[in-house]
Amino acid sequence: MGDYSKYIEILNRNGLKNTKHRKKILEILDSKEFPVSAEDIYLDIKMSDSNISLSTVYRAIEALLNKDIIVKVNIRDENKGVYEINNMLHKHHIICRLCHKMVSVLGCPLDAFEEKINKETGFKIEGHNLELYGLCPGCNKKESPVSNSE
Ligand SMILES: [Zn+2]
Ligand SMILES: [Zn+2]
Repeated sequence: MGDYSKYIEILNRNGLKNTKHRKKILEILDSKEFPVSAEDIYLDIKMSDSNISLSTVYRAIEALLNKDIIVKVNIRDENKGVYEINNMLHKHHIICRLCHKMVSVLGCPLDAFEEKINKETGFKIEGHNLELYGLCPGCNKKESPVSNSE
């Protein structure tokens, strides 16, 4: 643990008090390469701070969301949101349709496409959603039929 200065700076810049829970949540989200649910954040913090309640976590998340410091990502077909740091990097996600594991993928293939559509339609393109889905390596292994022809 340790260097919270980066998170304190982000909180200060956004006019938020740097409470330990807000710093901790930013640290947790920053350390994962996939979005995390409020419950998982809660369980993570609980390991070092057994007094924390889930509603405290939700309140801290709400404050961070309101300032766009973190963003909520909705998993389709599942009634829960997961959170990640809004680092202004445009990102897409790939989701396993069996176990719902979600991984962020960097990079976007649509920039040139948007430009083309802009030229063709005159629309000022403000954004897009692109969600990739399929089977993660683990589920793919389980799903593949075992060959009988040995
Ligand atoms: Zn899977
Ligand atoms: Zn994109």
